[in-house]
Amino acid sequence: MNLIQINNKFPDEISVVQYFEGVRWMGKKKCPFCGSEKHGKRNKDMRFHCKGCNRSFSVTTKTNLHNTRLPLKTWLYAFSIVTDAKKGVSALQLQRNIGVSYPTAHKMYMKIRDLMAESQVKLNDIVEMDETYIGGKPRPMANPDCLKPKKRAELDDKISNLQKDGVIFKRGKRKVACEVKPKRGRGTKNIPVVGIVQRNGDVVAQVMRTLSGKNLGDMVRKHVDTKDAVIITDSYSGYSRLHQIIEHIKIDHQQMYSYRGVNTNTIESFWAVVERGIMGTYHQVSLKYLPKYVQEFVFKWNNRNTDDMFETLVENAMKPIS
Ligand SMILES: [Zn+2]
Repeated sequence: MNLIQINNKFPDEISVVQYFEGVRWMGKKKCPFCGSEKHGKRNKDMRFHCKGCNRSFSVTTKTNLHNTRLPLKTWLYAFSIVTDAKKGVSALQLQRNIGVSYPTAHKMYMKIRDLMAESQVKLNDIVEMDETYIGGKPRPMANPDCLKPKKRAELDDKISNLQKDGVIFKRGKRKVACEVKPKRGRGTKNIPVVGIVQRNGDVVAQVMRTLSGKNLGDMVRKHVDTKDAVIITDSYSGYSRLHQIIEHIKIDHQQMYSYRGVNTNTIESFWAVVERGIMGTYHQVSLKYLPKYVQEFVFKWNNRNTDDMFETLVENAMKPIS
């Protein structure tokens, strides 16, 4: 929903409050303190008085927007602006657009990123795993002739066997001459972000301070259906024990970038979006906030086919907290 649509649909604060109430209670208002459905009419301050426990509550009481002092319409504007911006907006831009102070805009944006936290997704089928360092990671591209014969035979065997089991790797058209692999970002002081994406599906990503085999394996176990999925990574040593928990196929980026559909192109596209967003919009990002920025791009990727991410945010905003 864009700003004009919001204004047309919600001419005043009460109409926004009713919208949120509908999302939260679906017609059956319940006291968030005692669960009673006995309460008076909505007061002028938008609160209800509970006859069960004598306390008062509003639509945001004990939700993710608990204690907000802002009009809910301001939240709707912010939801709209943030979800419309593919690469994100700065808190400064948000401040200008919705007319709040900079600290308020900053806090709102951080809250919105919390609302974007994904419900647990399980990835399946063909998934790609990779890590990046915000700021750029060079990558080699090569053609099949660059692959050493023995390695190529091994890879052929593995792909053919998986194809017999019904795993289809879709091949791209890209063919590039052998290039010397540039140095990668590992070993720098940058903090890695690790991602796993299901082809044509969802992505999960997290900041990982220590890229150990154990941490990478834990992440796979948590987010991937390890019984059925096939995972593709590059030949980074951190991934070398993944075969113990999941069908694992490696593409050696020293040798080539893609082979018979075995590549990490999808997760690389995700990194491209993240980098353009973070470097283009936020210019720099402190370690403290990096997980939240990553969360925003994961949410936008996973909802890229959703008509209105805006509604998802309202639903998440109205989820009860304990
Ligand atoms: Zn009550």
